[in-house]
Amino acid sequence: MAAQGLDLKETCIMCPRRGTKVCLTCKDARYCSKECQKSDWKNHKILCASFKDPRPESTKPGLDFRRGLLFRCGNEPPLFVWVETWRAKDVGLTFETFDDKVYFPGFRPERIFAEHNNIQARDMVADEHEKLIFYCSDDNTRDSPNLAIKRFTRGDTCGRCFQGPWLLMHQWSGPLTPPMKLGRQHIADDYDESLELDGGNREEEDEWEDEGDQNLEEYRDVDMRDVRSAADFFTTEYRGGGTMDQNAVIGAAINSPGAIALDNTKSKWSYSVFRDSDEIFHCEGSGIANLLGIPVLLRQVSSTSAPELGELSFQEFSDILDGRGCARAPERIGQDFRNPEAANLMRDMVSTTVGALPSIGSYADMAMLEKVHIGQNGFGTPHGSWDDDEVDTILVARADGLPLTREHLEVLCCYISQRVKPRLAKAVKGLSPGAAVPDREALLNSITRADFLDFFEEMKRKKDSEGEQWGSMPSPYEMQGEWAARLNRLISEQAK
Ligand SMILES: [Zn+2]
Ligand SMILES: [Zn+2]
Repeated sequence: MAAQGLDLKETCIMCPRRGTKVCLTCKDARYCSKECQKSDWKNHKILCASFKDPRPESTKPGLDFRRGLLFRCGNEPPLFVWVETWRAKDVGLTFETFDDKVYFPGFRPERIFAEHNNIQARDMVADEHEKLIFYCSDDNTRDSPNLAIKRFTRGDTCGRCFQGPWLLMHQWSGPLTPPMKLGRQHIADDYDESLELDGGNREEEDEWEDEGDQNLEEYRDVDMRDVRSAADFFTTEYRGGGTMDQNAVIGAAINSPGAIALDNTKSKWSYSVFRDSDEIFHCEGSGIANLLGIPVLLRQVSSTSAPELGELSFQEFSDILDGRGCARAPERIGQDFRNPEAANLMRDMVSTTVGALPSIGSYADMAMLEKVHIGQNGFGTPHGSWDDDEVDTILVARADGLPLTREHLEVLCCYISQRVKPRLAKAVKGLSPGAAVPDREALLNSITRADFLDFFEEMKRKKDSEGEQWGSMPSPYEMQGEWAARLNRLISEQAK
């Protein structure tokens, strides 16, 4: 099973550390530290006070209310809504439904499922039974831009433009018969008797007995963790069509040795400028950078394009079909396209065990593997496609919209290789595959802003002594205001 680790409910809503502090107002959002609470505040403050609004009384049997999160079209802030639901049945399935015309008058909304939080490099939901569902219209020929969604992201940056109203619901689905899981909210007392679920302890055999396996789909109340997930989703979800006012975001690149060999004007660390509609925001994030409060998104780019089809041998053609095409581009042969810094940024901080997962036992496990980026190779290892020889050049941008300088990217990567990697090696030393990592929490707690800033000062002194004049450079935590303005001026002058 891939879902290792601390129960999601016990973790900080911003990172995989233990969430020991609970917001005093909503009594729902958990944080590991003041720093994580501060990072969430821009979004949290809009909804925190209204979280405890009393659940409406259901007056009719069979009806219930579930908390959803609504982004009305336009520029008004999002708000919680109590969505009136009822149960319906189909062959083999009991499901909960609601009248979508209340929120989407005149058309049927589409559904978008969200399970993975790219910025935090971990899952949004507890297990394969849960999903966040966005109901939306998102038709750029009909709907106007939803500015509230753009403003709800960390840095007013998002993967393109969202249109029309969006409603977030939290779904649970799974087997209805034992072992039955009850929702976070118990079913209303006045629920229709014939639909009541009682943990597989039904006295009377009801009308379901001939229908074979029964599955249940129901909604759960959206909570403050889901609110956080929605904000991160909007930054990284790619929605084609429609552009918005585009702010340039300054990011950086790590060029692979092979890329530098093919173009000798390149240096290892370079600047890159992104528009907020750029695909950089539809990318995977770095778990370690997220722990440091410098959330970044990474995009792999090939430094050479695949050759023309006419030039290919059959073997090369099959390689392209298998997704290895770029490796066979003639100019790439013999070059080194490894990018260990990129692999370091992608180390798994969420799993609690070491080693690859046991073989896939069920469809549910397989779906889990599709969905998650954690747990494939165990704690501390780079996940999936980031651990091979062809990572090549990567582009990096901060998910909070602040500028990322090439020097900051270099410090971040050096910090990981010089401070985090030795700690990781120590934490997993001697453990056999599948074993839990006893020092995992201590390791996560050692990756702090203070530790990073200490390393940054050390590196500045070293660079200064090498004549690179890093002395007055601000840290990644000081990139708002004047520094961001100066960098933006510099970039726009260069662009002329
Ligand atoms: Zn945290
Ligand atoms: Zn709160």
